[in-house]
Amino acid sequence: MKTARNNILNLSRTELKEFVRSLGEPAYRADQILWWVYKKLATSFEEMTDLPLPLRQKLASGISLSNLTSIDEKISADGQTRKVLFRLDDGKTIESGFMLYGREGSSRERRTVCVSTQVGCPIGCAFCATGQQGFERNLNPGEIIEQVLYFMRSMNKDMGTDLARRPVTNVVFMGMGEPLANYEAVWQSIAMLNSKQGLNLGARQITISTVGLVPQIQRLARENIHVELAVSLHAASDELRNRLVPINKKYPLRQLMAACWEYFEKTGRRPTFEYALFRGINDSVGHARELAALLEGLTCHVNLIAGNPTKSKEFVPSPRKTVLAFQKQLTDSGISNTLRLSKGVDIEAGCGQLRSRWIAAR
Ligand code: SF4
Repeated sequence: MKTARNNILNLSRTELKEFVRSLGEPAYRADQILWWVYKKLATSFEEMTDLPLPLRQKLASGISLSNLTSIDEKISADGQTRKVLFRLDDGKTIESGFMLYGREGSSRERRTVCVSTQVGCPIGCAFCATGQQGFERNLNPGEIIEQVLYFMRSMNKDMGTDLARRPVTNVVFMGMGEPLANYEAVWQSIAMLNSKQGLNLGARQITISTVGLVPQIQRLARENIHVELAVSLHAASDELRNRLVPINKKYPLRQLMAACWEYFEKTGRRPTFEYALFRGINDSVGHARELAALLEGLTCHVNLIAGNPTKSKEFVPSPRKTVLAFQKQLTDSGISNTLRLSKGVDIEAGCGQLRSRWIAAR
């Protein structure tokens, strides 16, 4: 059983039942609490009016319902991207994003929350603002889930009574940190996002993005919830990838690709490969041919990203003409792909940028 002042969002349904029993209450109260937290998006125990008052008081004094405090927020000029900097209970900071895709109200509308899973990141990718900040600690499941709830509560207010539209349709684990390096907490949060008593998000609406931790990809393939897998590739040769994504020295492309094939075969989920294009580094037509050869035969999709501009002089986004030539080569080679435009450039929406600026200002 969890101890006092723990966060209720850290508890699985079973653990919550144990907790309410320890307060002398019947186990079914746990589902009532989950309904308030995940369906009604309650932010206090006072709101849970069908719980007896003494139980509400015991809950309020025994366990917390929130771990995050929003301390900075940016909204892009087109209103489609939001970025929030949160302070955690121990004073550390993380950032999360919200992106709107498709026309509002249309069937193609996607309301996507991008969550962080670690404070900083231990992987240290050469082009990434978070990677340059070092690693501080893993997030716990409640801190991951609450990032989603924050945007749900906020969107819910904006959307008023339009119940046909869900305030959040997709969750991507693509914020600060390497999700598969914090496997247990990430998986517990996914189980709650997916469960009927939780947010009831479909497995297809949840994407884990990884730089390629091979044993964890293999473990993910054996799980009972088949989430979408996105692999941050960025290079199709070991020589170049060792430079951009240093974990490649431990899990080279041959091993990584074998794990991706296994993921597809076991789950039926088509892996996505993220490829950020940097000027003069990985963006030539030759690089595109190399990528097509690496992926040949695998049912997959490539997201090409014209990288977010950072302060780095080395990693500059590729010019549009170069990006289009790269994309054409991929398409001509029969590789399914999409060109993603960087969203929220005006609010530094790239991973870790808002936090970097906040840290620098202090
Ligand atoms: S790109 Fe992802 S894995 Fe690499 S340093 Fe940044 S946050 Fe970590």
